[in-house]
Amino acid sequence: MNNELTFLGTGTSQGIPVIACTCKTCTSKDPKDKRLRTSVHLSWRGMSIVIDSGPDFRYQMLRAGITKLDALLITHEHNDHIIGIDDIRPFNFRQGGEMPVYANKNVSENLINRFAYIFQQNPYPGAPKINLNTINSEDLLTLNGQTIIPIALNHGITSSFGYKFDSLAYLTDMKTLQEGELKKLKGTETLIINCLRLEPHFSHLNLDEALDFIAEIQPKKTYLTHISHRFGTYESIKKMLPPNVFQAYDGLKIEF
Ligand SMILES: [Zn+2]
Ligand SMILES: [Zn+2]
Ligand SMILES: [Zn+2]
Repeated sequence: MNNELTFLGTGTSQGIPVIACTCKTCTSKDPKDKRLRTSVHLSWRGMSIVIDSGPDFRYQMLRAGITKLDALLITHEHNDHIIGIDDIRPFNFRQGGEMPVYANKNVSENLINRFAYIFQQNPYPGAPKINLNTINSEDLLTLNGQTIIPIALNHGITSSFGYKFDSLAYLTDMKTLQEGELKKLKGTETLIINCLRLEPHFSHLNLDEALDFIAEIQPKKTYLTHISHRFGTYESIKKMLPPNVFQAYDGLKIEF
């Protein structure tokens, strides 16, 4: 069985269109210029996995027709990656039991603080049921006997986790790799990285930096995600990309 990844959202933290913005990207009629907040779904080795639960999580589950979820992996604590976690509840009700959630120590602490009502001693009936597993970048993450490699990333003043599934690496919200992490990307055939816009940004890759990074890793194919309206329309960005580098867009499915 082939493994498949679906882009559930490919926009930066405000999404595209941005509220009240009248720029060319935000007013574009092209469906590829409608970008929810960044998230992906993987059908991988018989499991259904989502990475991040941002503000659009509910609609993303509905739109992609996801009826079963085995695990939620979190990259980092920024609002556009976690704030929709309450909508895990329909999976709790449907599947029974707690949803396994995986995050690093900093993110776990953040979730417990920000969603105190989920993690308190006696949560109210109907509150989300989450089995929070703290992971680190020194160890492998094992799900159902299958191995995922967490990759530690620098993301401005905070850090973020990327995840590698076989030869696919998903690295959103990064500026640089943390020291010693490069070797984990050996053998990457499909690379997914954040690429915000043309101008530099303190916590995200811009296009020049993304292209340098791709040249270093040398994957067969790369997909750019976490795209800002300031980058431009899908059609205008397409013209700037070399062969084998593509923009992700919402709903795009790739096999790996
Ligand atoms: Zn983000
Ligand atoms: Zn705009
Ligand atoms: Zn972020």
